[in-house]
Amino acid sequence: MEPRSAAAVGIDFPYTARTTCYIEIHDDGRVTHGDDRAACARAVAGKSRLFAVWPGEWSSHLFMIDDLDEYAKAQGIKHDQNRTGLEEHVHDVEWTEATGRNPNSRSPYISIRLTLTCGCEIHDLGTFASQMQEQRGWAIATSVGWGSSSGPEGTSYSLRVRRKTLGI
Ligand SMILES: [Zn+2]
Repeated sequence: MEPRSAAAVGIDFPYTARTTCYIEIHDDGRVTHGDDRAACARAVAGKSRLFAVWPGEWSSHLFMIDDLDEYAKAQGIKHDQNRTGLEEHVHDVEWTEATGRNPNSRSPYISIRLTLTCGCEIHDLGTFASQMQEQRGWAIATSVGWGSSSGPEGTSYSLRVRRKTLGI
């Protein structure tokens, strides 16, 4: 059976689905599995080939990962403006502490409302959190709920941020 082309499936290919299983065939014939950054680098360098098993309801299909650019973007190895809504630049942000904080709260995190005046949108909180960590040292909680609301002044986001890292 010939493997199918993941590139032909395009953006709908389930690169990050939990059920997608990656197989790496190294140029010395070794077969390993996994989808980490090192595997991507080897595949880009032509030192191995990546395949993925996409399990279906009745049968599974073997795909060749032949669009490594798309693969790297889906895995977050390479920045993707379309998926994340975020440019790779220093963001211009305005933020205020959200009202209604319990003064007795001992949580090290506070809620803020944030707007991005640089024109970016947050589609992927993990990417935004790591950018803000780099740019301002903020520690944004990524394991809790966050939200956005759109109004006449644009979109604002409610986020939880470790208070100390905001300098307040
Ligand atoms: Zn921006």
